[in-house]
Amino acid sequence: MPNRIQLLQAFDDLLQPERFKDYGPNGLQVEGTVKVRKIVSGVTASRALIEAAIAAQADTIFVHHGLFWRGQDGRVTGWLKQRLALLLAHDINLFAYHLPLDAHPELGNNAQLGLKLGLRTLARFGEQELGFLGEALDPAGFSSAEALARHIESVLNRPVALVGPAQRAIKKIAWCSGGAQSYFEAAIAAGADVFITGEMSEPQAHLARECGVAYLACGHHASERYGAPAVAAHVAAQFGLAHEFIDIDNPA
Ligand SMILES: [Zn+2]
Repeated sequence: MPNRIQLLQAFDDLLQPERFKDYGPNGLQVEGTVKVRKIVSGVTASRALIEAAIAAQADTIFVHHGLFWRGQDGRVTGWLKQRLALLLAHDINLFAYHLPLDAHPELGNNAQLGLKLGLRTLARFGEQELGFLGEALDPAGFSSAEALARHIESVLNRPVALVGPAQRAIKKIAWCSGGAQSYFEAAIAAGADVFITGEMSEPQAHLARECGVAYLACGHHASERYGAPAVAAHVAAQFGLAHEFIDIDNPA
């Protein structure tokens, strides 16, 4: 049975957080029990996920979105107090990895999303190389952004918003999971025919129309569901630990 320090070392070795400039601390965010038996992975350290992990008798939680972000004022009140109180009362370790989990070339959110959608990665683009650029594994590809949007809807099981040229043939596909609106211009510069991410803000709709590159918003949560379970399962297998992914649905 590994201890929490060995687990932290394994996550750090795999995800190399020191290589990233991030919006919050990566690694062990809340210290729980020393000996680890079971990991629950999830997208966000919400109260619902923490309660589900307690019910599943986990002693360790691994997430993409942790509890602490730049810009918080440091007060432990309200929702933050409630989540922390649950973790501390049950002696649960909370591990959180943000950008390092998006970026990992095989197990990360983008790599796993590409795998789910049947895409091959050919290059990386944008700040900290978080953007993925590639093409369809199927040589027939996608006849249009519209066809790609319908495909994503069926794989992720949720509606996809499409703005920009819907009917143009798709060859180069760029994607970046979560709230990667700001990567759209870098995707255009990299020669993408379409950009897939979780969210869209007002300016990107105009850019899509004016630059002739389709923009697909397929859900922040839906696009980031696959990295945390892939990494947690990998490390759990290394140590012979139990692992369970718990999806707390989120329409955003
Ligand atoms: Zn995110």
